[in-house]
Amino acid sequence: MDEDMKDISNELEKIRKSDLYREMRVVEGEQGPYVMVENKAYLSFCSNDYLGLANHPFVIKAAIDAVKQYGWGAGASRLISGNMALHEKLEFEISRLKNRCSSLIFPTGYMANVGTICALVEKGDIVICDRLNHASIIDGCRLSGATLRVYPHCDMKKLEKILKNSAPFRRKLIVTDSVFSMDGDLAPLPDIVTIANNHQAVVMVDEAHGTGIFGKNGTGVVEHFGLENEISIIMGTLSKAIGSLGGFVAGDLDLINYLRNRARTFIYTTALPPAVCAASIAGITIIRNDHSLRHTLWSNIHYLKERLASLDLELVPSESPIIPILIGDTKKTMDAAKFLFERRVLIPAIRPPTVPNRSSRLRITVMSSHTRDDLDKLLDILKDIKHL
Ligand SMILES: *Cc1c(COP(=O)(O)O)cnc(C)c1O
Repeated sequence: MDEDMKDISNELEKIRKSDLYREMRVVEGEQGPYVMVENKAYLSFCSNDYLGLANHPFVIKAAIDAVKQYGWGAGASRLISGNMALHEKLEFEISRLKNRCSSLIFPTGYMANVGTICALVEKGDIVICDRLNHASIIDGCRLSGATLRVYPHCDMKKLEKILKNSAPFRRKLIVTDSVFSMDGDLAPLPDIVTIANNHQAVVMVDEAHGTGIFGKNGTGVVEHFGLENEISIIMGTLSKAIGSLGGFVAGDLDLINYLRNRARTFIYTTALPPAVCAASIAGITIIRNDHSLRHTLWSNIHYLKERLASLDLELVPSESPIIPILIGDTKKTMDAAKFLFERRVLIPAIRPPTVPNRSSRLRITVMSSHTRDDLDKLLDILKDIKHL
């Protein structure tokens, strides 16, 4: 092997030795509250498919019908010849769900964040992030060339301080997750908006885990806080509660027209297959018209959280379907995940660099399709985690 490649092997060995090596298991059959691994059924608390829409009959039928009518691939980027009726319809439905004039879809949420942030800020601008923002936000900030400042998680005093010292910058952009994906808590959006207004900063909110779950109409955390007229840039993904694939940005017409002209992750990539759009439209239709899935999800969340509280585990104060159990030590966290796996329960061990050092955790995500029996089974097994 040549010398450069040997370097990679050494790096890999280091990853293995620190219990940070990542492997994938294969899930057979469909995604749901139970998944099949090596022909055995496992109770899953790993999925972002919060409302079970990835396998909803209405969604599946929409995708199949679209394949029959439009075929599979889009064949080109949106700006060349890949812009089909279903892309436009999906953008219309997203705008309506989010109560915005307009929206733009990207192939993934990751690309929506990277492309949007890079289009909005550059050298001479400042972009300000919560410490726990999603990796796609951080990558967008780094790639943009703007000055990146990070404040400790939800620390509004620090945010204000950064803005006070940011007068020389041309544009000031604050970007935050609405629901933090590894802690499950909410960003203090009302405070962020007030501070932003005091310092002429623009706010961009990532509703990846908020869309379909929060707010009276399932619009997201922005609706939950009544801030729909206060936040200029809403980003979200179609890959979580909507059960499909893709990312989007919603906002006013000029923002969207600008992104269509400047977001490189929109311009230089092939459009989503039309059937993916059809499935997302079906998912959004269910979210808009049938609130029962969301109500079941929240009742599951409350049930599980109440009972977890009596188990003497260290819980992160979550306000969402994401419920982390903090363990700290990486090896112990891996052992706990293994213990659960042996008892046919899938809960991922989340380790650095996804979370800060010494904050490894088990991350439970609840779905509307979990039954009370499923939740009781989990609680029963978690009782023994403490004694590992
Ligand atoms: C999952 C996630 C994304 C990325 O979305 P994909 O559609 O999976 O690429 C972006 N931001 C946050 C906060 C997320 O949790």
